[in-house]
Amino acid sequence: MLQGKNAIITGSTSGIGLGIATAFAKSGINVMLNGLGDPVEIESIRQKLAKQYGVEVIYSSADMTQPAQIRSMVESAIQHFGTVDILVNNAGIQHVAPVDEFPAEKWDAIIAINLSSAFHAIQSALPGMKQQGWGRIINIASAHGLVASPYKSAYVAAKHGIVGLTKSVALETAEQGISVNAICPGYVMTPLVANQIPDTAKARGITEAEVRRDVILAAQPNKTFVTTEQLGEFAVFLCGEAGAAITGSALPMDGGWTAQ
Ligand code: NAD
Repeated sequence: MLQGKNAIITGSTSGIGLGIATAFAKSGINVMLNGLGDPVEIESIRQKLAKQYGVEVIYSSADMTQPAQIRSMVESAIQHFGTVDILVNNAGIQHVAPVDEFPAEKWDAIIAINLSSAFHAIQSALPGMKQQGWGRIINIASAHGLVASPYKSAYVAAKHGIVGLTKSVALETAEQGISVNAICPGYVMTPLVANQIPDTAKARGITEAEVRRDVILAAQPNKTFVTTEQLGEFAVFLCGEAGAAITGSALPMDGGWTAQ
């Protein structure tokens, strides 16, 4: 059913976005990758995905802080594939600081990349979805879209914001064959999280295993990282017929974090 559909996944050059792009390619979905990084590495990811799964994989370097680039990204996907059936708003960044010390430019960047980019991409992709009477929009929020942690004011505000955007757009499109959902992951072992472990261990004078269990996973009752593969399969489920009745939902995949 998903074979031959076309998807854009923002921030898919690493981590969760790449996990979703891989699961989509595996399901026969053509993919537009997006994100920052070394052009040679990105080209190698693009070629590998296309070759391994026999789907079309293209790449846009659009910067998610730039509305005009986001709009051209969607337009060029439509030009290339003919349609954009699935949009995954995944690109995101983090900055941790007390609110009274939070750099204003970090606040602006987090709101732009983690929240406003989804608005611009949705606005550009939605008319085509409405025209064909089928579409899937998946916003990668976070457990921080449902609950807060200290020192993450911009991230928590953006993630709560994207949950609100999800609900509103879902209600606007509910009768048009379009579903709009937010996935709210707990901690996922992406390169971003992995890179923090050795430094945290050194700073706190504990082992890396203790950092994983007592610092990073302290909030996650199952003490297990969510995987990018699990998130990829969940996104595929939401795109399929079995997931069609789910819309306007903020769906935790967080090892019990938000049950507390
Ligand atoms: P990551 O750093 O591995 O990936 C982030 C992606 O976003 C990369 O491809 C990066 O190039 C891209 N990106 C960053 N700034 C960009 C910009 N200005 N323009 C275009 N692309 C840009 O991180 P990740 O952990 O895979 O995070 C992906 C999403 O999942 C984010 O929205 C994040 O908030 C969310 N999330 C992550 C976790 C976690 O524990 N890792 C938990 C919950 C939610």
